[in-house]
Amino acid sequence: MKKGLLVVVSGPAGSGKGTVDAHLLKRDDFVYSVSATTRAPRPGEVDGVHYHFISVEEFKERLERGDMIEYTQYCGNFYGTPKKEAEEVLASGRNLILEIEVEGAHNVKAKYPEAVLILLLPPSYSVQEQRLRGRGTETEEKILERLAAARQEVTFANDYDYIVYNYDGKDADAAEEILHIVMAEKAAISRNPNVAELYLKG
Ligand code: 5GP
Repeated sequence: MKKGLLVVVSGPAGSGKGTVDAHLLKRDDFVYSVSATTRAPRPGEVDGVHYHFISVEEFKERLERGDMIEYTQYCGNFYGTPKKEAEEVLASGRNLILEIEVEGAHNVKAKYPEAVLILLLPPSYSVQEQRLRGRGTETEEKILERLAAARQEVTFANDYDYIVYNYDGKDADAAEEILHIVMAEKAAISRNPNVAELYLKG
C-alpha cells in the first residue's frame, strides 16, 4: 500500500491521547494533522504546531471554499481538519493522525471509508476520574464538565474500528498497539489490490 493511512484517534480527557500519539509521532512515517480552531491559544500552545489559530470569519471562509475535510463546534468554538495538508501527507505515503472528537470521527468515516478509527480510553471510568482529579489543575466544575462529556463520548464506541486502553504508565504500550493496528490495516489484502500483477512485474 503506497498511500498513507488516515488514522483517527479520539479519546476523552484523561485518556492520554496526546502522550500516546507523541510516541507514534517520533516516527518519520507518522504526521500529526494540525487542526484549525477559533478557540484562543492556551499557555504554551504555538500557532501552526498545536493548532492554526484563526478567526471565526476566516474559519467560515475556509469552510465555504471546501478547505476542510470535516469540522465541528465544540464548547462554543470551531475546529476543523485542513484538507490540503492531509492530502499531501497521505499522497507522500505517510500516515496522518487526526486527534479529533467523536462527531468529527464519524464524519471522516462517512467521507473516507478507508480511514481507521481508534478510540483510546482510560481502563475505566473510575480511573479516568482519578486521573482528572489527580492533575489538580482544573476546577471542580471543569472536571465535572469533562467527565460528563466523556460519558457521552464513550457511547459512540460503535462508530469506531478499534478500542485501545491506556493503562497507567503504559502509554508506550498503547502507542505500540496503535502501530500494530496501522501495520495490519496497511497489509490487508483489501487495501492491496493487484498483488500478483505488481509482484510479477518486479
Ligand atoms: P481542545 O480545545 O481541548 O484542544 O480540543 C477539544 C476537542 O476538540 C478535543 O476532543 C479534540 O480532539 C477535538 N478536536 C481538535 N481538533 C479537531 C478537529 O479538527 N476536528 C474535530 N472534529 N475535533 C477536533
